[in-house]
This record gives sequence, C-alpha cells and structure tokens, in this order.
Amino acid sequence: MALDRNLAPNDLNAFWMPFTANRQFKKAPRMFVAAKDMHYTTQDGRQVLDGTAGLWCCNAGHCRPKITEAIQRQAAELDYAPAFQMGHPVAFELANRLIDIAPEGIEHVFYTNSGSESVETALKIAIAWHRARGEGARTRLIGRERGYHGVNFGGISVGGIVNNRKVFGSLLTGVDHLPHTHLPGQNAFTRGQPEHGANLADDLERIVALHGAETIAAVIVEPMAGSTGVLLPPKGYLEKLRAITKKHGILLIFDEVITGFGRLGSPFAAQHFGVLPDMITTAKGLTNGVIPMGAVLTTAEVHDAFMTGPEHLIELFHGYTYSGNPIAAACGVATLETYREEGLFQRAADLAPYWEDALHSLKGLPHVIDIRNMGLIGAVELDPIPGQPTKRAFDAFLAAYDKGILIRTTGDIVALSPPLIITRAQIDDLIGTLGDVLKTL
Ligand code: PLP
Repeated sequence: MALDRNLAPNDLNAFWMPFTANRQFKKAPRMFVAAKDMHYTTQDGRQVLDGTAGLWCCNAGHCRPKITEAIQRQAAELDYAPAFQMGHPVAFELANRLIDIAPEGIEHVFYTNSGSESVETALKIAIAWHRARGEGARTRLIGRERGYHGVNFGGISVGGIVNNRKVFGSLLTGVDHLPHTHLPGQNAFTRGQPEHGANLADDLERIVALHGAETIAAVIVEPMAGSTGVLLPPKGYLEKLRAITKKHGILLIFDEVITGFGRLGSPFAAQHFGVLPDMITTAKGLTNGVIPMGAVLTTAEVHDAFMTGPEHLIELFHGYTYSGNPIAAACGVATLETYREEGLFQRAADLAPYWEDALHSLKGLPHVIDIRNMGLIGAVELDPIPGQPTKRAFDAFLAAYDKGILIRTTGDIVALSPPLIITRAQIDDLIGTLGDVLKTL
C-alpha cells in the first residue's frame, strides 16, 4: 500500500527484513529517517551516535557533501552505461585510485556490487586461474570456522558461521575449513594482536596432506574477522598462512570487506599486517556504504594469466549488469577523495590508542568476559544467559539504542566500529553509555 512519507508507516508487513528478528522489530520499530556525520536521527526525533558506521561501511560518516554532490552530478550526466563491452571514464578513474592506495603488487580491479559478490568473484577467479595455467584439478576452496564471507552459496560454503549455513542444503562440495583463532582461555583481554594461536595456521599443512595441494585452489580468510565478533589474527598467523599457501601454489584471498578503507589505520589490513595476498575482496567503505559497490583487487600474476588467446574473445565469463556502475564509481571516487583530504586512515591510526584505553576501561563490568580491539574496531564479549544465547547482547543493543547509541551484536558479542571521523569526546560518550548499559543488564 502507498505510504505517506511524512507519516509513520502503518503497515510494516510487506518488507521481509534481512538478518532481523522481523516479529520483534515490527512490534517496536526502530526507524532512522536522517543522518549527518556521526549521528542518525530517529523517526521520533532523537539523535543516535553511530557506533558501527552503519554496518561497518560509512567510514567517512554520513551525508558527506562531496559524496552527495558527486552522486547527484553523475546521476544527471551519465546514469548508466552497459558494463559489458563498453566503458565509461569514471570506472577507470576509480580503479586507478584504488590501485594507488592498494598494497604494492596489487594492480587490477574487478567490480561487483557487494561484499558477497566480491567473494563469489574471487573464488571463481581462483578456480579459473589455475585452470588457465593448466592446473584444472585445483578446485578445492579452504575457508575458516567462524569466517563470514557474505551470504551467497560460495561465501557460505567457505564461511564458518553455523546459522548462516545449516538450513541451506549441501552447499559447495570440495570445501574444507581451517580452525578459528579465538582462544579466550589464553588471549582474553589482549590489547591488539593476541600472542597465542599462530600455530593454528599449521592446520593448513594437515588439510594439504589430506586432500593434496594439486586439488586446492585457494584459501580465503578475513585478516581480521569482523562479523563473527572481532577476532584478531594471532601474531605471526597471517605470515604463516602466506608462507604455506605460497609453498603449495595455493592462492591466498584476504576478505577485506570490513578491514578495507582505513578501519585498522591503513588503507587495507594487508598493509597493516605486512602480508600480501593474491586477491583482496572489498565493498562497504569503497563507497562509504552510500551506493552498493564492491571490488576484487588482484595481482598482475592473477590477472595476466587470463590475458591470453585471441584478442576479440572475452577472457573471463563473469560480471554483473552493475559492475562499475557510473553512479557507484563516482561515489567511490568522491569517497576516496574524502578519505584522502581528511586524512581519515591516519586519523584512525592516531585515535587507536585512545580507543583501546576507552574500550578496556569496561573490563570488570558485569558479564564482560573479553575485550578485543585494533584500529577503530572493538568487541566486548558478554557471558551468555544460560539457555538463552544471544539474548544478553540483544538486550544490550536495545537498551543502547534507547540511550542514544547504535551498537551491533553478533552472538553475545558487542561489536563497535565507528566512522573514522569520531572525536575523542564521542568515543567517551559511546563507551561511557555502553558501560552504563552493561551495568543495567
Ligand atoms: N565479507 C565480509 C568479511 C563481510 O564482513 C561482509 C559483510 O559484513 C561480507 C563479505 C558481505 O558483504 P555484503 O553484505 O555487502 O554482501
């Protein structure tokens, strides 16, 4: 039914909301109607401090003028151009700007529309790459327990979040998983990268011995796993994964959908950790979350293996109607400009110690069993209510919203990832309010 935009919607039934407790929401809707910089405005006129950059994506904050203007201009000038066999300049400009900030050795960009599509694209490129080089038996994909790689079939197959997989059938075959790296017994309340757990990467040798390296195409991991509750890589872990994959001719894919674009204080986590993968999947912060867009970044070695054969033939039978969409690309260029002009990646790095101290000040509050942090990301893990997993954190989420802060929960973990424009006073407000909420649970 048609709704008057100025009125509260009186029928919430039609929209089947994603990753949402629909019945709970529709009984007590939480609606945002506007946003500016660090704040959302609710339908009842309250300001809510954004502790999560939307969904880990609005790294420059909300309704930033340069981004808004770029979208408006592009929509009026070239709204859409075919993505196959035709081009438009802005998509090329954005690709070059991405390569400028990408780790040394990353040279090409394949556009998608989301993180999930970036993951599917990277997995397909990995399998096709081996085939193009005469190793067509390398089709196996290795993910990790508790990994989140979006919601499409490839992504949930290599992913390791049980609820995202278990009701969706048999998924891809030929997939195996590394163990996750969450070791609260040894690493609880570590500031930054944990000391223990690098040896968990050695499990890749066991997987290689089990299946044979000649059957394995790629390993995909989040360099820092966000959606499963902010699990940081133990010191030396990513280096080991890189060494073992290289030794066995296996491609390494870093899923940087969350860690890309400054979250850890560097453009990409690959730079932060000093480990170069063969491909990087991105989305979210690429366009400040404003227009859907993702991208897979690859080395020349990956790209060039496809650039053979007659020149009139398509090299990779893959792509989307909206790959490199003009408005998304213009939004991406303006977003990268905003990051650069305002020095936001460096700002995240500079704020990280203050953020760390603020987060760890919550240690000792009721139910807090672990706190983790890095760059401008953090997690507070709560003791689950016996027999009611996720309830304690969800209660915290609702209470936090009432008190004017937006937090995100996954399981019984509160995850925080504010826009990189956050001020110290706003960090105090966010963490202080969260502390007040935890005391009431
Ligand atoms: N990969 C990672 C690491 C993510 O964190 C996410 C989303 O949070 C995705 C993929 C999926 O991205 P999207 O929701 O844009 O499909």
